[in-house]
Amino acid sequence: MQKLTWSVLFLVISAVELKTNPKIVVVGAGMAGIGAATQLRELGFTDVTLLEASEEIGGRINKAQLGKAWIDTGAQYIHGVVETNPVYCLAKKHGLLDDVLKEEGSWSIFTDKGSKISQKFAENLYTAGEKILEKEIDSCDNNTMGHYFAEEAQKLTDNWNGDTENKNLTSSILGKLGKDLLVTIGASDLNNVSLCSWQHFSDEMKGDMDIGGNMFLLPSKLLEDFPKENILLKKPVSRIEWDGSFSAPDARTYPVRVHLLDGGEILADHVVVTISLGCLKAQASSLFSPHLPEDKVHAINHLEFGSITKIFLEYEEPFWESDVSEISLLWEDESHFLMKADPNQWLKSLHLFTVMRPREKFGNVLIGWCAGRVGNHIETMSEEELSAAVTDHLRAFTRNSSLPAPKKVLQTQWQSNPFTRGAYTYIPVGTDPHEMDKLALPLSGSKGTEPDLQVLFAGEGTIKTLYSTVQGALVSGRREAERLAQHHRRTGGPLVVCPFSSDHY
Ligand SMILES: Cc1cc2nc3c(=O)[nH]c(=O)nc-3n(C[C@H](O)[C@H](O)[C@H](O)COP(=O)(O)OP(=O)(O)OC[C@H]3O[C@@H](n4cnc5c(N)ncnc54)[C@H](O)[C@@H]3O)c2cc1C
Repeated sequence: MQKLTWSVLFLVISAVELKTNPKIVVVGAGMAGIGAATQLRELGFTDVTLLEASEEIGGRINKAQLGKAWIDTGAQYIHGVVETNPVYCLAKKHGLLDDVLKEEGSWSIFTDKGSKISQKFAENLYTAGEKILEKEIDSCDNNTMGHYFAEEAQKLTDNWNGDTENKNLTSSILGKLGKDLLVTIGASDLNNVSLCSWQHFSDEMKGDMDIGGNMFLLPSKLLEDFPKENILLKKPVSRIEWDGSFSAPDARTYPVRVHLLDGGEILADHVVVTISLGCLKAQASSLFSPHLPEDKVHAINHLEFGSITKIFLEYEEPFWESDVSEISLLWEDESHFLMKADPNQWLKSLHLFTVMRPREKFGNVLIGWCAGRVGNHIETMSEEELSAAVTDHLRAFTRNSSLPAPKKVLQTQWQSNPFTRGAYTYIPVGTDPHEMDKLALPLSGSKGTEPDLQVLFAGEGTIKTLYSTVQGALVSGRREAERLAQHHRRTGGPLVVCPFSSDHY
């Protein structure tokens, strides 16, 4: 009798232990993976392994050295300059905002025909154009952002009675706004982008702060207290077997087996998958065994993964005034009805250059921004080709035939990076933003009676309120950690250092 009682007790204790100390693997050390892994530790889970395919952490936050400074090749803006934004809050806490310039610089505008445009006129019109996109829209289903924007921009042009001096240039300025939108979204054609795209977006995403040159510091700051031996770099995951029963040498069985490309394998109770939507599109059918359910595949297929390319241009001497923060190139007779990034006319997509400031830190560096498919072409160009083409382009617009060539050109490679395959998620027309909720749903095994959350999903593409952002990635990772905590009935102290609650969004 005594013996039976002890064995029952032992069974109960081991069941509790198994439940309370699960083995968790997080795939991908971008912000979502880092958010998940660090929050899991905060919540008291100790057996957490972070697997990363590339040789460094950060994912789409990355850096390169250019001249005397490090630059951010991936994310560089904080969207939502408010304390409740955990990225803003954490960046501030870690001193990453200390040398960020507060004052906005001036806007330098050139046109292909050489007309002078007053900055005030351009700013007024641009601001009015932005308001078009902030309007409440009754019915956005099956309507495209391109169509809506073109219609509203036309009305704005027709009724514009502010400054009439440059009235004939209204469509060029609104056309620039359309092209800027393409960069923001990462799409090739605004007519493919759903008008419902921002329907669920968090209101707190207002206000941008450029922390270029500091963003890449954030991932390592967040992992400062995470055990280094649990971060495994250069470990691409090649397959995730789930709904199984895999025996470990310690006689425990696990439902998940994670296979690595180098032949290694790790058994786990839960795996949190944070790879980009681009990687899921390319690999989902071979990555998961058994295959993902229909709903999940539908979401992966119907959401889009966009692309942007940054071209960093370092000059010996600046050809712009010291207070300039943005240089825009406008085509005077271009219609704002055609907001497409066409690789055959890729220079037409190169209309926006931002200045890396302060000059004392970065030297004389411009960033050229290109959206969508154009980037695929740019990524294949040699430094010499790109330098010559961009220099001719700038000379034509500035009407300065002796404008210097940059001493160094560096273009980002997010599209061809096999562990990224683009920049960020967007919602194409005809796709419901709720597809992101489906992408976020965890998978449970078929054997138990209760859901056991074997495979969980995080990443910027899984959060319809904050997708395409660093903040979205971080919050989605923390969301999955909280989900596991709830599942295991953990109520450890969630982070209090930066106001945060996953319900908040
Ligand atoms: C050029 C560019 C500019 C951007 N600008 C901004 C900005 O200014 N502000 C902003 O908020 N956001 C910006 N973003 C978006 C932002 O960077 C992303 O939304 C965010 O970093 C995504 O984080 P994530 O963790 O979801 O994905 P990722 O960062 O892609 O992390 C996924 C990780 O998984 C790894 N991985 C992939 N496959 C495997 C595998 N098989 N096995 C193991 N690991 C794997 C990858 O190497 C990667 O490290 C920008 C993105 C780009 C590309």
